[in-house]
Amino acid sequence: MQKETIAITYGYEKDSNRTMNVPIYQTTAYEYESIEDAALLFELQKEGNIYTRISNPTTRVFEHRIAKLEAGVDALALASGMASIFYSIINLAKSGDNVIISTKLYGGSITLITQTLKPLGIQVKYFDVHNAQQLQELIDDKTRAILFESIANPALSVADFDTITDIADKKGVITICDNTIATPYGCEPFREGVDIVVHSASKYIVGNGSSIAGVIVESQKAKAKLANHEYFSTPDESYHGLVYLDKFNAPFIARARLALLRDFGAVISPFNSWLLIQGLETLSLRIKQHSKSAKKIAKFLKKQGFEVSYPMLKGDENYKYAKKYLKYAGGIVSFDVGDFKKAKKIVKNLKIFNLVTNIGDSKSIVTHPASTTHQQLNAQELKKAGVSEGLIRLSIGLEGCKDLIADLDNAIKSAYGS
Ligand SMILES: *Cc1c(COP(=O)(O)O)cnc(C)c1O
Repeated sequence: MQKETIAITYGYEKDSNRTMNVPIYQTTAYEYESIEDAALLFELQKEGNIYTRISNPTTRVFEHRIAKLEAGVDALALASGMASIFYSIINLAKSGDNVIISTKLYGGSITLITQTLKPLGIQVKYFDVHNAQQLQELIDDKTRAILFESIANPALSVADFDTITDIADKKGVITICDNTIATPYGCEPFREGVDIVVHSASKYIVGNGSSIAGVIVESQKAKAKLANHEYFSTPDESYHGLVYLDKFNAPFIARARLALLRDFGAVISPFNSWLLIQGLETLSLRIKQHSKSAKKIAKFLKKQGFEVSYPMLKGDENYKYAKKYLKYAGGIVSFDVGDFKKAKKIVKNLKIFNLVTNIGDSKSIVTHPASTTHQQLNAQELKKAGVSEGLIRLSIGLEGCKDLIADLDNAIKSAYGS
């Protein structure tokens, strides 16, 4: 089935009301047929809904669609992209373990792992997605995961998937790829050998900046790697000795749902899941348009003499990886104007672009990462993350491209006083 068809038809069985659109099951709980039925559900002997913190039929449609779009086995939707990254990490690592993260990672993910998880005893090491041979030395017997982004936000580095997944597979370490910017249309991490995909669905998936959401997707191949992991191969006492590997085709998702979501509760609202379902229906068209306009704008900015970063631009340091691994590069373009003052002036002069810390919206957005998303990082970490003081990040929306170029042209001319 083509992805465009999956996004619109997959995983929804009409009930007796024959509703065309997926209903919003806005409910906390579900009635049991009997005491015996309730017991079977609680013991996981029978599949079904108990309580919306653990599962919900509207959310399940979204999960099935995104799992299929990523060519995965199963998915878990969560309240935010951050929740999906947090759950993915702690589904693998405990105190004394370490995770290896890309130096070019979303600022929030870096803060989560280096600051918030640190006192819990989870150590961190860094690697460069373009020099991934380093992983050979970095991986040790306490390494539980390697986390990177298919297209990094905001540095836009495109990962060298082959090198990363080859080494990770040889060493038996789980790879987690954040596919937020590329979307399942721009990049297929599972085809490139990745084990787990995460998304901030708040961005392109919902598509119009209307909700915060995240999702984790498990690949076919992850299960074999989890065979040696105690969380999945030994009994979970909270389910009377359940062994995830024995019972589930997607043990990573099963544990994330049945243990982590049950206990930490970052549940998505059924209404937000419904918004994601609406978003998925048009994602294929939107990602094409975002990418087309972004490339035009990147070319325009380059002509103005700025250092521009867009993976699909010839001459870009990511171009060879983009050609190999991406179908679309999405709508994020960054350019460096050299210093803080100039950056501030340009941002101030823009009229159609909104000064907002978000991406993937239908509305165009401008951000200054050094003073916002990456503010918590120190100078050295900023440098590592590829964020300079004069860096401006654009998220190209779906407005007319000529209008966007005119807006930029005007803002730049005013800032440079010509
Ligand atoms: C926004 C973002 C996140 C965090 O997602 P939220 O939905 O805002 O919690 C994680 N990774 C990337 C690449 C992002 O752009």
